[in-house]
Amino acid sequence: MTEFTLIPASGAAVPAEPFTGRHLIDGLWKDSADGATFDRVSPSHGVLVSRSAKGGEAEVLAAIAAARRAFDAGDWSFSSGKSRSEILNRVADLIDRDRERIARIEVLESGKPIAQARGEIEGAADIWRYAAALARMAHGDSHNNLGPDMLGLVLKEPIGVAAIITPWNFPFLIVSQKLPFALAAGCTAVVKPSEMTPSTTVILFELLEEAGLPAGVANLVLGYGDPVGAVMTTHPDVDMVSFTGSTGVGKRIVAAASGTLKKVSLELGGKNPQVIFPDADLDAAADAIAFGIYFNAGECCNSGSRIIVHEDVAEALTDRIAVLSRKVPFGDPLSDATQVGAIISDEHLGKIDGYVREAQAAGAKVVIGGGVLAVPGLDGRFYAPTVVAGVTPDMAIAREEVFGPVLSVLTFKTEDEAIELANNAAYGLSAGVWSLDVHTCLNFARKVRAGTVWTNTWMDGFAELPFGGVKESGLGRELGRFGIEEYLELKTVQMRVARGRNNWVAG
Ligand code: NAD
Repeated sequence: MTEFTLIPASGAAVPAEPFTGRHLIDGLWKDSADGATFDRVSPSHGVLVSRSAKGGEAEVLAAIAAARRAFDAGDWSFSSGKSRSEILNRVADLIDRDRERIARIEVLESGKPIAQARGEIEGAADIWRYAAALARMAHGDSHNNLGPDMLGLVLKEPIGVAAIITPWNFPFLIVSQKLPFALAAGCTAVVKPSEMTPSTTVILFELLEEAGLPAGVANLVLGYGDPVGAVMTTHPDVDMVSFTGSTGVGKRIVAAASGTLKKVSLELGGKNPQVIFPDADLDAAADAIAFGIYFNAGECCNSGSRIIVHEDVAEALTDRIAVLSRKVPFGDPLSDATQVGAIISDEHLGKIDGYVREAQAAGAKVVIGGGVLAVPGLDGRFYAPTVVAGVTPDMAIAREEVFGPVLSVLTFKTEDEAIELANNAAYGLSAGVWSLDVHTCLNFARKVRAGTVWTNTWMDGFAELPFGGVKESGLGRELGRFGIEEYLELKTVQMRVARGRNNWVAG
């Protein structure tokens, strides 16, 4: 398949020694008590990138105990918003300072292009600053409308110990959509990054220390879902779980957390539709669709992985997307020119290919791509930019999250049919509409079941705007001013302010 724009090995140096990751528990960097470790081999370069301490029950229990002690001591949970804000702003400055170092490790562990990793780190710093601002603005409410004798206070209090569990696709960004808001609220935390991409979270914790976050306020445990994640989601001293990952694990977490009725906040998968009406600007739509499916190699909860295009313009649009699919620079993630990098693992590569093969067998047509590609000079896992047309709603590729650079094309005749097709998935994370008619866009925006709707654009992100899903895409919202609310609880204080007493019995 030479029709693609391949970026061969750039020769950029990879570190000779793997990054060493350890747990940070109560302010101390620790190996695991039993000395266990796990390795991460780069999916793009085939080299050992990191060796991390593999947490067991001992480590996660110690981390939860440290977070509990730090919360109950009150030094952080009762500290002023101003002082929390100063620390969070310092973290943001340190992230900016170390952006290149963080980005390079992120590239090697995840396989994503360096330009996108830099954007991710820069976006994360912006979120830390936004959360820092919120730390000074989160406050409760008062009621002096309860009659002459009563005053009501509604306090907003930190919920307690937050367990934060993150996936591998945007490890630095996603921990930054959670931890600064938890800290801004006055919570303490235990964080577990994905076993695929632990190292940039380790660096973040080095920066938290340098920024002056007190010991025990944020604790880090490296390792796997079992036992680390499982203990975090069942332990009675954890007050809430904030999880981003697959819908399957999200459901398991809800069940695990039910034993202690913890609050659970979930950011899960998506099968995000974009509907293209015949009056749309097809060039703009094709470009955004290519971005939506090839950004982060389609390993993105927000991938625009299925388009629903009016049959009159389906061929014209598909042709344009195919041209862009040939043009998108694809290959060595360490090259500045690359826009599509490697797939996270061999197992995942097989899963992506399986969806394409199954759709083909069911009668869909691979317009371009549809197979594993080799990048000259790299020992990596790459999948070709792929467009599959003639997809019908019953096919797995139309309903399930492929999580790869694979676009499904469905067609429609009427507006009602388009909306019905868009809603025909268990997920409800995001959706898009392309039309020059404002009524068509607004009608779609109101009727589609999704947490975010983009009109004539795709996948813009702002710290100011809340993000999250409906249906099986999640519970709760991150970012925006609602981002901090997830970590706050209301307490009502009712005060009798008049002199004298109630005299219920004595009259
Ligand atoms: P995953 O669900 O396999 O793992 C996510 C995290 O959960 C990892 O840290 C993992 O170790 C941990 N985990 C696994 N089993 C656990 C258990 N039983 N208890 C507690 N923790 C457990 O997800 P992934 O493969 O790392 O990430 C890809 C998925 O994440 C995709 O489905 C994607 O859509 C989703 N995602 C969603 C968003 C969003 O904001 N909605 C963002 C990014 C990724």
